[in-house]
Amino acid sequence: MTTLLRIGLAIVTAALIALAGQAQGTHDYPVQPVPFTAVRLNDVFWAPRIETNRQVTIPAAFQKCEESGRVNNFERAAQALRGEPHDMKAPGYPFDDTDLYKVIEGASYVLNVQPDPKLDAYVDRMIAKIAAAQEPDGYIYTTRTINPENPHRWAGKERWVNERNDSHELYDLGHLFEAAAAHYQATGKKNLLDVATKAADLLVATFGPGKRTTWPGHQITEMALVKLYRVTGKESYLSLAKFLIDERGPAAIPSNETVNPRGLDYNQAQLRVIDQSEPVGHAVRAMYMYAGMADVAALEDDAKVKAAGDRIWDNLVQSKLYLTGGIGAAGGHEGFGDPYDLPNMTAYNETCASVGMDYWNHRQFLLHGDAKYIDIMERTLYNGLISGVSLKGDTFFYPNPLESNGQHARQAWFGVACCPGNITRFMASVPGYVYAKREARAAGRDTAALYVNLYAGGSADLELAGGKLTVAQDTRYPWDGAVKIRVTPDKARAFTVNVRIPGWAREQPVPGDLYRFLDRPAPAPRIAVNGKAVPLTITDGGYVAITRTWNGGDTIDLDLPMPVRRIVAHDKVAADRDRVALQRGPIVYAAEWPDNPSGKVRNIVLPDANALVPEFRSDLLNGVEVIKGRAFGLSLDEKGAVQKADQPFVAIPYATWANRGRGQMSVWLARTDAVARPTPYPTAATTSTLTHSASTKNIRNVIDGEDPRASNDSSSYFDWWPRNGCAAGAPPPAAGQRPCSNGEWIEMTFAKPSTVSETQIYWFDDTGRGGVRVPKSWRLLYKDGADWKPVAASGEFGVARDQYNTVRFTAVTTTALRLELQMQPEVSAGVQEWKVK
Ligand SMILES: [Zn+2]
Repeated sequence: MTTLLRIGLAIVTAALIALAGQAQGTHDYPVQPVPFTAVRLNDVFWAPRIETNRQVTIPAAFQKCEESGRVNNFERAAQALRGEPHDMKAPGYPFDDTDLYKVIEGASYVLNVQPDPKLDAYVDRMIAKIAAAQEPDGYIYTTRTINPENPHRWAGKERWVNERNDSHELYDLGHLFEAAAAHYQATGKKNLLDVATKAADLLVATFGPGKRTTWPGHQITEMALVKLYRVTGKESYLSLAKFLIDERGPAAIPSNETVNPRGLDYNQAQLRVIDQSEPVGHAVRAMYMYAGMADVAALEDDAKVKAAGDRIWDNLVQSKLYLTGGIGAAGGHEGFGDPYDLPNMTAYNETCASVGMDYWNHRQFLLHGDAKYIDIMERTLYNGLISGVSLKGDTFFYPNPLESNGQHARQAWFGVACCPGNITRFMASVPGYVYAKREARAAGRDTAALYVNLYAGGSADLELAGGKLTVAQDTRYPWDGAVKIRVTPDKARAFTVNVRIPGWAREQPVPGDLYRFLDRPAPAPRIAVNGKAVPLTITDGGYVAITRTWNGGDTIDLDLPMPVRRIVAHDKVAADRDRVALQRGPIVYAAEWPDNPSGKVRNIVLPDANALVPEFRSDLLNGVEVIKGRAFGLSLDEKGAVQKADQPFVAIPYATWANRGRGQMSVWLARTDAVARPTPYPTAATTSTLTHSASTKNIRNVIDGEDPRASNDSSSYFDWWPRNGCAAGAPPPAAGQRPCSNGEWIEMTFAKPSTVSETQIYWFDDTGRGGVRVPKSWRLLYKDGADWKPVAASGEFGVARDQYNTVRFTAVTTTALRLELQMQPEVSAGVQEWKVK
C-alpha cells in the first residue's frame, strides 16, 4: 500500500471515529465494532473474493441497473418533476429503486479502501440522477413521481396508504439511507447524504406521536434511520426508528389501509414487537427488523425490545436454522416454516436473508459480547451467504438449497434483484466483522478489551485503552486452524485480548441441540502467549480472555485442530434423518456431481465408519480443501434390484458448488441404503436427448429414471411456468402481461433407432403451492422420415395426478417421439417423468 493511501485511510478512519462520537445519546452498544475501514485483509480466503466483488460484481450490477431501466426510472421521475414529456410506464416493481442504492453502497465501501476516480465520478453521476428525482418536500419513489395518477399497482392511490402492504416506500428510503451513510463515510461528500436527510426529515415530519402512524411493510428503514442518526447526530431519526418498531403490530390500522393479504405473520406484525418470541414470515424482512431491534435496544436502552430479540434468536437457532446458516425454509412466502421443518432441496434460504442474518447476529454480539452470536454469524458467512455468488463474481443464487438434482443454477440478474445488490454491499464490508473492542468504562469493566472474532490474515489499526494498537494475523484459516496474532500497542499497557474459541472447536456446532457432532471429540485447541501455554479457560462468552500488560511484538499462537467432523441433525428434522453432513473448521461440505462416480451424489451411502481425510487442491475452485474417502454408490440393475459398489468419495465446500454446471449436489448424505436414491438402469428414455418449447429449464429431470413420490414432489421435475394456457377465445397477451400459449412440446431423440409401443407420463402439479396443473390434453407423435405422425393409440391420453398415465399404441420403429400438450387456461403445466417401452 502506498504511503499516500495509508494517510488517506487514516484520515477517513479518524473521521469515522469522530462521526461515531457525534451521536449524543448516553447509551450505545457496550461492544463497539472495529470498522472495515480500519481493517486490511491480505488472506487466502476473503481478500480474493473482496477483489472479485470490486472488479467484477459491482461493475456488473451497475450495468444491470442501467440495462434493466432502473437508472432510467430516476431519469423519468426527474423529467416528470421538470414537467417534461416522458414515458409514463410503471417500473417493474416499486422497489426497483433499491438496487441502485445498494450497489452505490457497495461501491462506496470499495472507494473507501481503494481510491478509484473513475468509479467515484460514476457514482456521483448516479447520485445526481437520484437527487433530480426527489420531490420538493423530500419524497423519493420513482413509480409515483413518474405517474402520480397511475403508479405501480402496489403503490397505493396516495403516499403511504399501502405501506403496511406492498408499496415499499419506506423500504426504498431505508436503502437510500444506508447508501447515503456509507457514501458520506467513505468519501466525505454530502451529495447523497443531503438527499437522504431531506427524505428522512419528511418522514420525521409525517410520522410519530401525534402525527401519522404506520409500520414498514418491508423492514430496513429502522436500522437505516439509526445509521443516519449515527452520521448526523440527529436524535429525531433515532426516535423515529424506535417509533416504527413500537408501532408495529395488529392494532390501530386505519380502515383505508390494507395489510398484506398473506397475513400479519408475513411481515412480523402478528404481535407487538416486544411480545414476539418466534421468527415467522418473510425471512429478509424478519432479519432487517431484528437488526433494527438490536440497534434500538442498544441506543434507547430498551430492555423489552432486547429481551424479545433474544427470545427470537434462541428459537431460531434451536429449530429453524439450516446447517449452512441459511434461513427461510419455504419458498411460497420466502420465509420461515414450522419448527424443525427444514427440507433440503426446496430450502429457500434467500441470499438476502443470510446477509440479514449476519447484520443481526453481529448486532446481537455487540449487545451482549457473547461469541455464540459470532458462531452463527461465521456459519452463515462462510457457507450460506457466499454461496449466493459464483466464484467469478458474475452470477447469483436467490435461493440456496442444500440439495439439487440439477434444477438449480446461478443467474446473472433477476426480475427481483435484491440478492446481487446485497452481495455487492456485504462482501465489501467483510473486514468490519473481524474485530471489536470494549473500553473499560463501558459496563464498568476494569480493563479495556479487544475481541478477535474472525480469523483472517491481515492487520487492523484501532484506538484502545488510551492509545493506538495494531493487531495483525497470520493464518491460512479457514483451511488451517493455526493463527498467529501479533499485538502491537504504541506504548506498553494493560488490556484484555479476547480470543474466540469457535463453537465447532468446543464440540458444539451450534448453540442448542439442533445439530451435534456424531464422531469422537476433536483434539482441544491450544493457545500460547510469546510461546508460553495459556490455560484454555473459556469465559461464559466463549472467549479465552488474556489480560496482561501488552508490549510491542507480543504474539498469541492459537491452534484450532480441524479434523473432518460428521454432524447429524435433531431427530425431529425429517429431511435429515439417517443422514450425515460433513464440516471441517467453519466450512460445511457438499458432495457435487463432477467429483463423484457417474456424476451422481444422491445415490451415495457414506457409512459412519469410513475414514475421511482433507486434501488441499490448489487446482480446484480457486483453491479449496476437499474431503476424500470411500463410500458406496447404489444403482438399479435391469430387473430393478439394488446394486452396491464401493467407490471413491469427494466433498467440496458447500459455498463453491454450482460453479461447474448443473447437476446433483447434496449436503446431507445417506448413512444407510434406505434413504439413498439408487441410480436408475439406463433405458431408451434415460439415454435419449430432449429438446422442448420452454427456454432454460432443466429438462433432464424428465428422463432421470427416478419415480416421483407424488405429482407435487418438488425434487426432480420440469415445467413451463411462467407460461400459462390461454383462456378460451382470449386475445393474444399485451406486452408486459404473463405470456400465454396454445401449445407446448417435448421431443425425445433416441441414442439409436428404437421400437416402442408404450409410453408413461407422470404429470407435475403443485396445487396449493404454485401455478402448475396437469394439462388440458396431450398427444404423442413419432418421427417417420422427416415427418411427425400421431401414434395409433388404443386408449385415453390420461391426465391423472399422482400416478403414471400409460398409453399403449401400435409399435413403431423410430428415432424420436414428440409429446404435444395444451395447458389449462391461466395455469401452467409440467412433467415429473416420461418413460417409453
Ligand atoms: Zn434477495
